[in-house]
Amino acid sequence: MTLPPEFTRRGLLAATGAAGLLAASGLRPAVAQTAPRWAVGPDARRIRVGGFEVLTLLDGATVRDNPAGIFGTDQPPEAVAALLAQNFLPADRALFVFTPTVVRAGAETVLFDTGLGAGARGGGMGRTAGLLAANGIAPDSVTTVVLTHFHGDHIGCMAEGGAPAFPNARIVTSRIEYDFWTHPDRLSGRTENTARAVQANVVPQAERISFIEPGQTVVPGIEAVAAHGHTPGHLAFHLESEGQRFMITADACNHYVLSLQRPDWHVVFDMDKEAAARTRKSLFGMLAADRVPFIGFHFPSIGFVEPLGEGFRFVPATYQFDV
Ligand SMILES: [Zn+2]
Repeated sequence: MTLPPEFTRRGLLAATGAAGLLAASGLRPAVAQTAPRWAVGPDARRIRVGGFEVLTLLDGATVRDNPAGIFGTDQPPEAVAALLAQNFLPADRALFVFTPTVVRAGAETVLFDTGLGAGARGGGMGRTAGLLAANGIAPDSVTTVVLTHFHGDHIGCMAEGGAPAFPNARIVTSRIEYDFWTHPDRLSGRTENTARAVQANVVPQAERISFIEPGQTVVPGIEAVAAHGHTPGHLAFHLESEGQRFMITADACNHYVLSLQRPDWHVVFDMDKEAAARTRKSLFGMLAADRVPFIGFHFPSIGFVEPLGEGFRFVPATYQFDV
């Protein structure tokens, strides 16, 4: 999804909260974290995928009104409300979480997307840097930052106080995405806010970017997968280690009911709505057929999908990775 407009108007707000905890960890307390306003699961979830360690981080969460104005915008609002009710969810409000993921693969520490950053910190979001430290990962130890796409909730923590937040990391992203958002035409109209965030957070670090194409690997066992539609260069990532698989689906699907059970429904955040629908059907069709676990950036947890009607049903992970 794009950076919600209320965040872009916020100034830089002082972070408060778990500074003592971070100091006690002995790590550089680069960024303290405020408490999240909504509890939607643990701050961090760690699983193993073969020889990889996968750590999902709750950068934050926020509530938006009127989900029918975001998902199923080509449908009658009553159809959206009915599907939400059928799934025990309210029709008037929806919770969005933001979930960067870290993969430790041998000597590599790979961060997939960075969360909202300092501008959202006063609202209990932008917690990724603090959570990395709390989980023993110093910012300068991150070897690679993968940007699945350039929306503000994914690039917001690329810079901290005007300096690169992950100064030693190679940055891996799509050339299509970079070229799209850095084109001068993007600096006005609907793309202006994101384009300005790209100019502030990504462009100054461009010399560290390695462009990647679908089918190429970030590090051995982590492969980029074409998933455009949400944005022109949006990528998902497939992990495979010791015969086990996992997928980082990023923003291919942004609501675990509305966009998964009805993958064809238009989503206001998807720049090419038909391509995004095709991506959802192919990507989640594969995950369902092969029973591969995944994390979506805006999903409430790691989970699985199974076929259901014209789409898929989300099955949250419980203890299967822990026993
Ligand atoms: Zn997003």
